[in-house]
Amino acid sequence: MNSFPPSENEVEIRYKKLDREAEEGGYHLNPDREFTKNLVKGLLVNEKRFGYLSCPCRMSWGNREEDRDIICPCDYRDPDLDQYNACYCALYVSDAVLQKKVLVSSIPERRPPRSERKAVAQQEPVPGTGKQLPFPVWRCRVCGYLCARETPPLVCPVCKATKDRFERFM
Ligand code: SF4
Repeated sequence: MNSFPPSENEVEIRYKKLDREAEEGGYHLNPDREFTKNLVKGLLVNEKRFGYLSCPCRMSWGNREEDRDIICPCDYRDPDLDQYNACYCALYVSDAVLQKKVLVSSIPERRPPRSERKAVAQQEPVPGTGKQLPFPVWRCRVCGYLCARETPPLVCPVCKATKDRFERFM
């Protein structure tokens, strides 16, 4: 059972877990340990408060459906890593940052406004897609991993995002 606020020990354990999973998936946590552990602490606080790892740098609605795109790792991590060498919070950084070839600077918010997010969520799937395939294809919204099976995996084998972060691709 996690305590509230999270203890140093809980932060350390989660930090090590996230670090191991990041490295296994080809990602890197920010090498500034104190900075990173503060973000991990924010994630744990949100997990306790909302029941999921809502981004520690963004306002949460306290509703998983509304916040699905900002459950860490969020849908915007990879494009921000590509473009800015770090995610919005700078919890995750690129190889170039790790090797001190570039510095992290401020990262603009990529998340669309709520009205746009709702409009996209209400879009109907393209008629006829997937009908000729023996299995539907699911895409991880976080890292782009694709798999063809009846249902999405419980956890993305690449980035560890949970099942509800997958969308029907074909
Ligand atoms: S990956 Fe996304 S949700 Fe996680 S800390 Fe970075 S910006 Fe926030």
